[in-house]
Amino acid sequence: MRTILLYMLISLPMWVSGQAIRCDVDRRFDLSGDQKAYQQFLTRIHRAQSQQAIHSRSVIFLPVVIHVVAREPFMPITEAQVLNQLDVLNADFAGLGENIPSLGDEFTSLVTDAQIRFCLATVDPQGQPTSGITFTSTEIKDIALQTEQGGRIAIHYDQLGKSGWDPARYINIWVGEYGDILGSASFPGMAPFPEEIGVVLDIRHFGSIGDAGGAGFYNRGHTLTHEMGHFFGLKHIWGQGFDTTCEDSDDIDDTPNAEGPFFDCPSGVQMSCGTSNMYQNFMDFTDDRCLAAFTAGQVAVMQAAQSAYYPGLPLEGGCIMHAATYDQWYDNLVWSYDSQSQAYVIYNVDGWPYVKKISVYSADGKLVHEGYWVEEWSYLLDLSNSAPGVYFVKLDSGGKDYVRKIAVY
Ligand SMILES: [Zn+2]
Repeated sequence: MRTILLYMLISLPMWVSGQAIRCDVDRRFDLSGDQKAYQQFLTRIHRAQSQQAIHSRSVIFLPVVIHVVAREPFMPITEAQVLNQLDVLNADFAGLGENIPSLGDEFTSLVTDAQIRFCLATVDPQGQPTSGITFTSTEIKDIALQTEQGGRIAIHYDQLGKSGWDPARYINIWVGEYGDILGSASFPGMAPFPEEIGVVLDIRHFGSIGDAGGAGFYNRGHTLTHEMGHFFGLKHIWGQGFDTTCEDSDDIDDTPNAEGPFFDCPSGVQMSCGTSNMYQNFMDFTDDRCLAAFTAGQVAVMQAAQSAYYPGLPLEGGCIMHAATYDQWYDNLVWSYDSQSQAYVIYNVDGWPYVKKISVYSADGKLVHEGYWVEEWSYLLDLSNSAPGVYFVKLDSGGKDYVRKIAVY
């Protein structure tokens, strides 16, 4: 029998402001400048940067798998919510985040496309097709806070949570209850166990629609962007801990140093450490309505960390993107098949209502399914009563039909 110990917060971070704790990374990893592990990280990053300087970069696509480990009443996270969250993440990493317009003139020129994109895995570790999302139900409250003997965090293991996929090939993102904490991530090379390499997000702050859309100040999906920044080697913009001496920083040249985090969403020029602070940076602690950008210096670190620590992640040939700029309405549909339940989820990245009626025909022309699109974002096409084989799905948009061939297996 495994003994489950309640995770004890040994010392509460000083930025506890009576509500949510933005991030758990500073408590899990000591990223102080004098720590040997952190110095080794910096050495490796600098070496990767000097090697990269001779190569020109292009956009890379990284497969992610979302492990939802949820307790009632937090099930289910919908596929629409997952895709919405990835859209937010990709926009943020492209330098196209929703809050860019609120950046002051002094910081706009620092914004850079990270040339990193994230897409749901389409093939699982066994080579089988996958939706890139796993669902595990649990009865354990705050599963992301529970540790077993030896310090292993329960959400990362099948015994109580969900074991991740090979971290050399996938970015594992666990979504579960995390107490008052919004998220955390393993810092490159510092995860105490390889099974814990990845990102953890509180289930109430995942994406910007569904339940997360009503999640107070953290309702726009930028928590994942912040944590992904840590996953690729970024420290908080002020460094480690609150220091009025301003000696500690994030070790990145173009991010203004600050004494400590900002909260809420300030406006105008905010000064500390003798400089104007970039409180709109994704690595600060401001509200989601404030977080806008990474700088070029941060992007350079993330790219170096990717090649130094996660060289096996990039997909050849890219992946299906959920961009909403297509001429044809049916190009805005993303199809995802779950062979276990024999169901497709058709997700409309532009929102309802293009498709009004859905009809499915067998290869010999018999109508096997008929339904109407009533949800805003997605349609569940349940074919569990149909024999394996090829089918034709007719989507009626009220003017122009579209037919797609699908397989049930
Ligand atoms: Zn953080």
